[in-house]
Amino acid sequence: MQRFPSDDPVWQAVAQEGERQEAHLELIASENHTSAEVLAALGTVLTDKYAEGYPGKRYYGGCENVDRVEELCLARARELFGAEAANVQPHSGTQANVAALMALLEPKDRILALSLDHGGHLSHGHPKNFSGLFYEIHAYGVEKHSERIDMDQVRAKALAVRPKLLLAGASAYSRYLDFQAFAAIAREVGAVLMVDQAHIAGLVAGGVHPSPVPYADVVTMTTHKTLRGPRGGLIVCKEAWLKKLNSAVFPGDQGGPFMHAIAAKAVALREAMSAEFKLYARAVVDNAAALARTLSERGLRIVSGGTDNHLMLVDVSGLGLNGAEAESALGAVNVTCNKNLIPYDAQPPMKTSGIRLGTAAVTSRGLGRAEIQRMAGVIADVLHAPTDEALQRRVRGVVRELTEGFPIRAARGARQAALRN
Ligand code: PLP
Repeated sequence: MQRFPSDDPVWQAVAQEGERQEAHLELIASENHTSAEVLAALGTVLTDKYAEGYPGKRYYGGCENVDRVEELCLARARELFGAEAANVQPHSGTQANVAALMALLEPKDRILALSLDHGGHLSHGHPKNFSGLFYEIHAYGVEKHSERIDMDQVRAKALAVRPKLLLAGASAYSRYLDFQAFAAIAREVGAVLMVDQAHIAGLVAGGVHPSPVPYADVVTMTTHKTLRGPRGGLIVCKEAWLKKLNSAVFPGDQGGPFMHAIAAKAVALREAMSAEFKLYARAVVDNAAALARTLSERGLRIVSGGTDNHLMLVDVSGLGLNGAEAESALGAVNVTCNKNLIPYDAQPPMKTSGIRLGTAAVTSRGLGRAEIQRMAGVIADVLHAPTDEALQRRVRGVVRELTEGFPIRAARGARQAALRN
């Protein structure tokens, strides 16, 4: 990280955040560690440029260079996801979803989406979010016994509700999503299919999760989770939706695009096309499977019994803990995660019965199966004895060995070298 000869407390906080990231095992499923080149792109002069509009059709002069950057980013997004069309301007995943819903629906139209309590996202219908305020939201959930989405139930709900839009995608669901089945249901009830692949975009790009692109009208995503790019949003769609979608992004819900972020997205998309990224995506899911297995063997209940992707929900209620207590016990040993509702949770959202763990970030810093098993062992130790201070000291030592053995700084450099070869 570049340092400045300044005592500005902002730079002190930035430096300390770098140190915190190096010293903690990051298991927040929506986070990752970007490459040196992605970080560099974010710090370029492109941040100075206004470029309202689209390449070749801007409302400002001097856009010839940023046009090239956006064209490259669009071409890479189409190629990586095998999509007919793309929009790379959304500032975030939520803004990508705002634009998609604006393009596909009229206000007050009916949406059928995964319940927020069962792993859906705020922008899929939370009453205080634009989606819940401007559309009529209906929800499907996971089955109580299997804790999985049952496509027969989704179909029954869709036949009853007759939504104009069927939405697939989640923030806390650990199983494959059957996009083909979602598409068949959408067709049957005359709905459009939107998929929000925010969490799994990198797994789709790396070929370890089925792709929604052949089946969905519009696919939204974030670029900063498993895709390992800068914080931002991205949309791919069928050509027929592009005009409406472009107009929904600008002028619909944004002004000038963040051209520095688009450059960083272009860099990340190129990285995601590499053979190294395919290995990374495979390692993320292998590590998640190893984490879930080891935690299960140590007596922790994994929601739905395991994981097909990068994340899992761990039900800590059987240990006499709630999710907030588990999050804080792990935080005390430098393992970062978040409390999370589990399906049919009896606890309120600020307590919860679960924690959500993801392996995208620890895999980026190089942890493999042996290290994941070691990490899982100490996580189980702490959750079984959350107030044991001697244990905490020992576990902090193990975490230090793992973090110092796999520095993020070195991983960023190694990734650049692999890409150059
Ligand atoms: N969609 C899903 C499924 C998500 O999990 C998230 C973020 O966690 C988002 C959208 C929103 O992304 P952002 O935080 O960039 O608005």
